[in-house]
Amino acid sequence: MDTRLKSVYKNMRIRNSGCWEWTEELTRDGYALYVSPNIVGRCTLAHQYVYTILHGKVQKDYDIHHICRNKRCIKPSHLVKLHHKVHFALHRLGWDVMATLNDLQIKSLSELPPEEGLQLILSMRERRHFVPDKPVREKKPKVPTESAIAKLSEKQLAELYYTLMAKRQQELM
Ligand SMILES: [Zn+2]
Ligand SMILES: [Zn+2]
Repeated sequence: MDTRLKSVYKNMRIRNSGCWEWTEELTRDGYALYVSPNIVGRCTLAHQYVYTILHGKVQKDYDIHHICRNKRCIKPSHLVKLHHKVHFALHRLGWDVMATLNDLQIKSLSELPPEEGLQLILSMRERRHFVPDKPVREKKPKVPTESAIAKLSEKQLAELYYTLMAKRQQELM
């Protein structure tokens, strides 16, 4: 294991939820704060540091999002890179809606081009139904009618979107 990773992972405990939770200092916002004389500026966010070690530098417009919604978590599989706009829009949906999305759904959000990801989230928020601008190669997933969609709860809507998106991802593979 990378020695930098080792030094980060000395400071965590494994929770029942599967999270690897930071046991040291936190930022004011509740994120894991890693302090080391070996890094520029001495301190950094532990989850971002871990992500960078494993995947390389994070581009300017991207954030690292916690799929598990646990800000103290530093487990690699719970971290995903999202374009800042997509990330911001996702958080604006609120924790309740976010909680209805599974890991795979959020990960697939990170694989869409930012504009598409953003569009998807915005349309989810505005309760418009999901019709991609460009026809999705051949098969389009079935989308319920607008009036049927208007009757769905926020949670059902979230599920619907991500089912459709997961289908779409499969088709593109
Ligand atoms: Zn976690
Ligand atoms: Zn986030």
